[in-house]
Amino acid sequence: MISYKTLGLVNTREMFEKAVKGGYAIPAFNFNNMEQLQAIVMASVETKSPVILQVSKGARDYANQTLLRYMAEGAVEYAKELGCEKPEIVLHLDHGDSFETCKSCIDMGFSSVMIDGSHLPYEENVALTKKVVEYAHQFDVTVEGELGVLAGVEDEVSAAESHYTKPEEVVDFVTKTGCDSLAISIGTSHGAYKFTPEQCTVDPETGRLLPPPLAFDVLAAIEEQLPGFPIVLHGSSSVPQEDVDTINQNGGKLVAAVGIPEEQLRKASKSAVCKINIDSDSRLAMTAAVRKTLAEKPGEFDPRKYLGPARESMKKLYMHKIINVLGSNDKL
Ligand SMILES: [Zn+2]
Repeated sequence: MISYKTLGLVNTREMFEKAVKGGYAIPAFNFNNMEQLQAIVMASVETKSPVILQVSKGARDYANQTLLRYMAEGAVEYAKELGCEKPEIVLHLDHGDSFETCKSCIDMGFSSVMIDGSHLPYEENVALTKKVVEYAHQFDVTVEGELGVLAGVEDEVSAAESHYTKPEEVVDFVTKTGCDSLAISIGTSHGAYKFTPEQCTVDPETGRLLPPPLAFDVLAAIEEQLPGFPIVLHGSSSVPQEDVDTINQNGGKLVAAVGIPEEQLRKASKSAVCKINIDSDSRLAMTAAVRKTLAEKPGEFDPRKYLGPARESMKKLYMHKIINVLGSNDKL
């Protein structure tokens, strides 16, 4: 048993309390490799933002859970080396699929876990989430639960249709489970293809697809039921069209990739939404930079020469999100 506290990590409790009161949201960035982690740490130190490092099942399969845990420990030391005296870094399990997975992460030093029972019948979701909370709280690890189903594909989490969270269930769920934050479904979606062209309208000026708006009425109803309780949005990448264009102009083929407009996420950040998950945008920024570099310099074969620009591009993206979308800058 390794406590996250000895690694210099923090849980989400105080961070979320401040974010809800302050009307901003904490960035939750997924990471799978060193360049991505470096970019996240550099961006959060430069902007003085707390940050949540997320590890998905796909990341655990790809990079190994133990290695990722040590990388997060390294991230704390790296942030200090970059001049941040008291970094606030959470190591969070994204979409934990069983009690055993959550327990294994808690035992090896994660400071926060998500147990995703949203696909289960309601009472089973309650029972599973409660079991994880009871274990996690013994070690002061915070737990995110989920109610409602998001559409889209994220690593191994996928659903064809979304089901909005039912506001009439949230008080019962939070009370019975004791979870520390709640992921809800109000129209965000996993992946870079969040909506089909049929669900979108076309912007007459640019010809781009405009997605349907988020269900802010459902969010308001949830906030009314649970005043001040930390709410989480998954699937909140914006899929910047410049990156999609760069990818397509340099040999890629992303057709009709659509995300959540940033002004809607800005609006959500000012509410009880205090954690916003962003993964696809970083994948797009990285891919765009790698494709562009390799297209411009076809003789290049040193990975540092194309992963370096990719890291720079992700760092810019993270800083932009922190400052212009989430508002979590200057909070350390
Ligand atoms: Zn998710």
